[in-house]
This record gives sequence, structure tokens and C-alpha cells, in this order.
Amino acid sequence: MLASGSRGNATVVSGGRTRILVDCGLSCRELFRRMKQADEEPETLDAILITHEHSDHVGGLAVTARKLNIPVYFTEGTHRAWMRWLSPRRQMSYKQWLEQMRKQAAERQAEADDAAQEGEQDESDLALDSTAESEELAVPAPAKDPTWLPAVEFFTAGEPFEIGDINVSPFTTSHDAADPVGFVFGVEGVRMGFATDLGYISPNVKAQLQDLDLLLLESNHDLEMLKDGPYPWAVKQRVLSRVGHLSNEAAAAFLEDGYDGQAAYVILAHLSESNNLPELARVAAERALNGRIRLLANMLLLAAQNEPLSSLYF
Ligand SMILES: [Zn+2]
Ligand SMILES: [Zn+2]
Repeated sequence: MLASGSRGNATVVSGGRTRILVDCGLSCRELFRRMKQADEEPETLDAILITHEHSDHVGGLAVTARKLNIPVYFTEGTHRAWMRWLSPRRQMSYKQWLEQMRKQAAERQAEADDAAQEGEQDESDLALDSTAESEELAVPAPAKDPTWLPAVEFFTAGEPFEIGDINVSPFTTSHDAADPVGFVFGVEGVRMGFATDLGYISPNVKAQLQDLDLLLLESNHDLEMLKDGPYPWAVKQRVLSRVGHLSNEAAAAFLEDGYDGQAAYVILAHLSESNNLPELARVAAERALNGRIRLLANMLLLAAQNEPLSSLYF
């Protein structure tokens, strides 16, 4: 976990020969810096997977995907919302845009095939020490289109799919975004469940988050701190709502009653910097897990906003 919280989210999941980045809410420069810190090579990433279009999950997406020249996986609803966010006055209808995208992709594929026949391509295009935030990219992109990506792949909540060796099961979450999802990743017999940015744990989410080796769960705010905290009333209402964020108390209630206690690691994530304290989140979760702690299970970790979590291996 490279970063977690309302100023940026990004996590690397790898297994077999595949490495994917889940969300890209850091700037490309910062993302690469943190990957190096965590002994990860950015150029080994195979794809980027997006949970929803909020800026703390997509802030560095376009630059990163172009720089690495890798595909981005979205739900169609999330992709559409992301495009609107970047180009609110777009003239083209979404359908027209899709058609144009497919044509361009086919053209690029044809060019790539030609290039491959002519011999190796210049690997130096992926050099990572150039000005990371610059929009002047080595990968050819229509200069004026902020939504241009090397490739877009769509998935649907409830329909598992594969990215290389990693099985991805997306599930719908309750959050104020167009089509937000969480994921269960399966690779080499290991199952990892990711559930952040959700107002409550619906029966479906609860059903997904079972039989896991790693549970990544939102523990966003302490209810008392939020109520007494600096946010305007309307924002407090939003955070507290069924499409807002999960409180320490709600996360703990799930850990106590809804969860099967099987995961080797439980990671608390997306902690608010204004309305939570790591110790409050930890104590609430520890109390809930108390009695369920058994050897080698439920090691509790807290994901941070400003530094990567140590890599976990199975
Ligand atoms: Zn978020
Ligand atoms: Zn969000």
C-alpha cells in the first residue's frame, strides 16, 4: 500500500507474473518515488485498476498510464464520470467517443504490429527520470485530449475477470460515485479483499469479504471526532450517510459480527486526517477482534497517507 486516505490512494497487487496498480491517486512522480521506496519497479506494472472516479483515486491516472503505456480497467460508469470530470464541456456523445476510441486503438494496434515486425522498439521511451509531471510524454498521445489513455478495458461489478495471473472479482459498494466497486483478488490460492470508500457494509459486500487471507477495510472516522470536528454540516452529513465513508465503529461492528476472522492480515485504510486518530481506529478494531485473535491470523496494520506500508508476502 503506497498511500491511503483522502489525499491519495494507490496499492500494488502482484502474483504469478502479473503486477497491477489498484487506484492511482498520487501524482506520477510521487507514485514512482514511493514504488522505489517499496522496492517496486514502476515499469513492471501490467495494468491499472480503478475503484471509482474521486480524485484521491484517479489524480495521477492519465499521466501514469501514458508514461508506462499500460491499460486502465474501469467500469463503464466510472470511466464516463472520469471523462466528464476531465472535460466537462465535451461535445461528443459518449457513444461517439467510444467508437472513435475503438478506431484509434485498432490503428495503434496496426502500427504496433508493423513496428514489431521492423524490430525492437526503443525502450528508452519508458525512462523514468524525465520530468515526471510533464504532459510532454514520450508515448504519442493526442496532445489536447486530457482523457486519452493507451488502452481502456471495461469490467462490470459482479463479473469476475482475469488480468494476467490475477483473478479480479469486482463488487458494488455504496458510495457517492458513479459506479464504485471494491475488489477481491485471487492469485496462487491467496485471496485479498479491498473495501474502502463505502458508506456501509451491505449484505453483498459482507458476503464478498469472507474466506480472505488479507482484508483491507476502511476505518475512516471516529463518530465523535467527526461530529465535533471542523467539517461543515453538509459535509458531515455526506460522510455519515449510506454513500459516505465507513466509521471506526462500523468497521469494528463488521469485524466483530460480520467477518469470519480468517485473514492473516487486517489492514485499516482510508483514515481521515481531520476526523480520526490512528490509535482510535486501532483500538476499535482490536477490541472487535479480541477473542478472535489466534496464531497467525488477524495481524492488524494501519495504512498511512504519507508513507508506504511494508510489503506483505504470502
Ligand atoms: Zn477515497
Ligand atoms: Zn471516494
